[in-house]
Amino acid sequence: MTGHCAEKIDPGNQTVSGVTLEGDPFEFPYDRLLIATGSSAVMPDLTGFDLPGVMVVKSLEDGRKIKTFLKNNRVKKTIIIGMGYIALEMCESLVGLNIAVDMVKPNPMFMPWLASSMARAVKEGLEAKGVGVYAGHKVERIEPFGDGLKVICPDLTLTGDMVLVGIGVNPCSRIAENAGLELGVQKSIAVDRNLRTSNKNIFAAGDCADAFHVVTGERTWIPLALRANRSGWAVADNVCGKDVALDGVAGTAVFRVLDFEVARTGLSVSEAEKFGFEPVENMIKSGSKAHAYPGNTTIMVNMIGDKKSGRLLGAQMVGTEGVAHRINGPAVALHARMTVKQYCQTDLAYAPPFGPTWDPTLTAANQLLKKL
Ligand SMILES: Cc1cc2nc3c(=O)[nH]c(=O)nc-3n(C[C@H](O)[C@H](O)[C@H](O)COP(=O)(O)OP(=O)(O)OC[C@H]3O[C@@H](n4cnc5c(N)ncnc54)[C@H](O)[C@@H]3O)c2cc1C
Repeated sequence: MTGHCAEKIDPGNQTVSGVTLEGDPFEFPYDRLLIATGSSAVMPDLTGFDLPGVMVVKSLEDGRKIKTFLKNNRVKKTIIIGMGYIALEMCESLVGLNIAVDMVKPNPMFMPWLASSMARAVKEGLEAKGVGVYAGHKVERIEPFGDGLKVICPDLTLTGDMVLVGIGVNPCSRIAENAGLELGVQKSIAVDRNLRTSNKNIFAAGDCADAFHVVTGERTWIPLALRANRSGWAVADNVCGKDVALDGVAGTAVFRVLDFEVARTGLSVSEAEKFGFEPVENMIKSGSKAHAYPGNTTIMVNMIGDKKSGRLLGAQMVGTEGVAHRINGPAVALHARMTVKQYCQTDLAYAPPFGPTWDPTLTAANQLLKKL
């Protein structure tokens, strides 16, 4: 039933009510309910963010709006507010369309979760391609400027023909909150490992719900597609009488921006410190292929381990190839709660076109082990 906006859950009477696009009210009874309302793009309540040409990219409809705007206007330059993975992917798409890009955000650190030398490599790579990276500038407002727009910070003004806002998402949990369901991290809907909310007949899955982190064991909110998909399947199984419990998430993510593949799994050093670990990190440079093989490029791997337990806590990788799937080795190790020493013993594949004899993640683990 598309075109139906659910507005209220009545857990006592087990009904969901709302209104259709045509304005007709509806009410459905349920035995079991799944809330899978996803997340919504953050749009700051600041002057000018409602001007034509200022857009977010969250839904397919948002994507269509951007395409239409590009078709109907001579967009030579875009300003992107935000530098998260979606903002960076938008940067790649626009540069591919020969549109100049300036990016701006308040935090002075570009990709703060990445080891600083790796973040610097990506930033310099973007700048070398003409992208303006303005980290450390808080946007105050947007104003019309001729046929285009002006993004104004106290110490910087950027002009362009279009503005994309990519500053994150929030879980769509209000309907759950109003129904008295318990909320978790960042107001996501708190669920147990079987995806049950605080009401035994109501499940929640996807971006609107929280998850357990496999490294910390604590609740976390990392809205990504695999977890969303997997949790939906698990709810279906549980509603049908199976007992499916999910282990949790490691925060494994990858994206590409221009020449770079950037990937992470597990905790960064600052996250690990917050959860009481004693993190030690080590960054190495290795090759995407055997050293003498044509086309060999540099892969940077940062691995993080816990000095107290020897446990592997996380890994990050940057390179121009061979990063995206390589991050899955450390990700599986995190699910297995492996120590760095155990990772060093893993038998990873080698052939010259695909990597050095010692996979870059093994070199990273071997070097990290010396520091633990
Ligand atoms: C541009 C972009 C790129 C991304 N790229 C990646 C990627 O490369 N890798 C990755 O892992 N993840 C990526 N993600 C994240 C991924 O898309 C989400 O994690 C995933 O789509 C979440 O699925 P979901 O079903 O929970 O929510 P959604 O896909 O957002 O679906 C929620 C649905 O609920 C409906 N809904 C909401 N409220 C109501 C209501 N009150 N009544 C009725 N219906 C309602 C919405 O209309 C929507 O159809 C990306 C996200 C974006 C925006």
